[in-house]
Amino acid sequence: MEKERYNHLNKYLKEKFGERTLKICIDANFTCPNRDGKVGTGGCIFCSEKGSGEHLKPSECLTHSSKSISLEPSKSFNCSKNIKLITSSIQTQIRNHLNSYRGERANNFIAYFQNYTNTYDSLENLKARYDAALIDDRIACLAIATRPDCIDEDICKLIASYKNKVDVWVELGLQTANDETGKYINRGYSSKEFTEAVKLLNKYDIESVAHIIVGLPGETIEDIKNTVTFINSHNIQGLKIHSCYVIDNTVLGEMYKSGNYTPITLEYYLETASYVLTHINPQIIIHKVSGDAPKDLLLAPEWNLHKKWIMNGLDKLLKEKNLYQGMYYKK
Ligand code: SF4
Repeated sequence: MEKERYNHLNKYLKEKFGERTLKICIDANFTCPNRDGKVGTGGCIFCSEKGSGEHLKPSECLTHSSKSISLEPSKSFNCSKNIKLITSSIQTQIRNHLNSYRGERANNFIAYFQNYTNTYDSLENLKARYDAALIDDRIACLAIATRPDCIDEDICKLIASYKNKVDVWVELGLQTANDETGKYINRGYSSKEFTEAVKLLNKYDIESVAHIIVGLPGETIEDIKNTVTFINSHNIQGLKIHSCYVIDNTVLGEMYKSGNYTPITLEYYLETASYVLTHINPQIIIHKVSGDAPKDLLLAPEWNLHKKWIMNGLDKLLKEKNLYQGMYYKK
């Protein structure tokens, strides 16, 4: 059998648990400091009103479903009287998933806190939410997506406390190491803050997963090269590579409609993703090589809807050129 050309998360989890492990995406009614005014109000220019949780079905999406807790996301912060409703919703989301046909497809699941900034609340409320997700022995992993500026020592201690029960990792949005682009996309934190967050996670032996985006406005292949070098200078355990896609009702959506942003082609994405893979640390687990563009909100590029084109296209390219993860990695 041919050797895998990069370290897929699925394969890694299968080897670890002896069987496949599937993800349950959770909307835990968080908000984001880049939306509620603490850091900014507009959010990152590509981020939709669901806070990067577009592929949750409306019925599962707590902050945006008709059954939602009647809070604007920005008002949920530190609102302890609602935490019971929120934890109850988290448990319902987990149970609904496990009791559906999806629950029969595996025995191991990842509770994935996805929407908005999933470390942005009081410690007490964070604990209540994470505990709520661990209601079933089939939950084998706790994955928490957040921003680097929302990681501190106490949050690390809390997250580390789950390591004796389940596998734990924290996903940090980086998107790019270029702080000029960071400002342009209204990210609201610097690459230095990413470094500090990774150091803290390292201190508590918590696995960290970096997110990067290919095709941000104004970025070239040189930016990608610098971002890869930057990531390689950190002790991280996982990487998600996304293409930049345009969602309606976002700043990037307006830029696209007015001709001020041109999405990348599939060919460019595949070439660039293969650069990332061949230059990234060969030990890193690749969590994703494509984004989950929501069909109903996607403006462009259309190819983003075809995950198989991306996955198969990348496999084909790597095979044709005989490329492997980390083959050009330099410490
Ligand atoms: S940090 Fe995440 S949730 Fe917040 S605005 Fe940016 S993409 Fe959206």
